[in-house]
Amino acid sequence: MNKIYFDNAATTQVSPEVFEGIKQYFVDEYGNPSSIYEIARSSKKVVEEAREKIARCLNAETQEIYFTGSGTEANNWAIKGIAEALADKGNHIITTTFEHHAVLHVCKYLETKGFEVTYLPVNNQGLISLDDLKKAIRSTTILITIMTANNEIGTIQPIKEIGEIAHNNKILFHTDAVQAFGHMKIDVKDWHVDLLSISAHKIYAPKGVGVLYVRKGIKIKTLLHGGAQERNRRAGTENVPGIVGFGIAAEQIVAEMESESKRLTTLRNKVIDGILDCIPYCFLNGDREKRLPGNANISFEYIEGESILLLLEMHGIYASSGSACTSGSLDPSHVLLAIGLPHEKAHGSLRITLGRYNTEEDVNRLLEVLPGIVDRLRKMSPLYENIQQQHKL
Ligand SMILES: *Cc1c(COP(=O)(O)O)cnc(C)c1O
Repeated sequence: MNKIYFDNAATTQVSPEVFEGIKQYFVDEYGNPSSIYEIARSSKKVVEEAREKIARCLNAETQEIYFTGSGTEANNWAIKGIAEALADKGNHIITTTFEHHAVLHVCKYLETKGFEVTYLPVNNQGLISLDDLKKAIRSTTILITIMTANNEIGTIQPIKEIGEIAHNNKILFHTDAVQAFGHMKIDVKDWHVDLLSISAHKIYAPKGVGVLYVRKGIKIKTLLHGGAQERNRRAGTENVPGIVGFGIAAEQIVAEMESESKRLTTLRNKVIDGILDCIPYCFLNGDREKRLPGNANISFEYIEGESILLLLEMHGIYASSGSACTSGSLDPSHVLLAIGLPHEKAHGSLRITLGRYNTEEDVNRLLEVLPGIVDRLRKMSPLYENIQQQHKL
């Protein structure tokens, strides 16, 4: 059976180009970039080349790019590093209720250290209000951290407008752009962004590498102490193959972005319309237009997303759902609760995230099997039976 991978927001396969391009840095040119002999010099050189490539993709300066061990680390560093550096100026941070846990849990942690955090609500389309943001600003606000695009429902915030508000109020602005990178044009200068996080494994490069963009001149405390790597700001021997792979992948995805986002938008719309047209009692989560090209997140009433996943897997189709059962908890996704879904509807959601290696045949296959799966699960659902009875009466 052919495997169909629809979970590209969780991670992506390493592209053949990246795999080929990094092999040599495992077995031949494995030198530590801090050493001074020949194989080490080449490691240092390729790390710097990757830094240049990524800077170009973000319209940043090369020296504003810092490699980290993940997107999670980049978010942690940005928020803790600024909070600590500016603690004498103020203790207030603004974020949203539906950030990735790598932002949300950092903010929760900082609350235990005397910081105050405002969690802006998002509306039922998954968008924040700029008015709410302006109203939340205090004289003690030191940082605004709002994600560019949401990992579960794909919605895209008005980042440039947020950046302008932040700068007009002399507040630093960080955005988690892990999902957005490679799928929409990012320009840190035009956006007035001071700090921005991205991650390699979401764009067809290896896991375990991230980048934090830090605008020139910004004071940020160090998260990892040790050696003098990354111009003394992030200790730890560089993940040379990972970093080289990140550079190749970034260049490739940005070069293909225009045509690929058109292709993915068409496929994604086919998924959304195909499902909404053929299956009763289901709805799209998140704004239809202001969303990432490859994201479709749909709630199916009266059934559990987890059960849909299990049955899809029997057809070789891999997707994700709106509850965090996989992580051992039965809580529905905080993102779906944030857009106002009641628990039972949040539990019935399915996230399909398309990527470079998905084809129209993949989508056709999904649309072929999904109606039967939903129907089968609903036939076993007592809730659904009641509803059907009521409709007959
Ligand atoms: C995946 C992801 C992260 C975490 O990145 P890792 O490299 O997996 O730690 C952070 N934010 C968003 C929006 C993500 O999708």
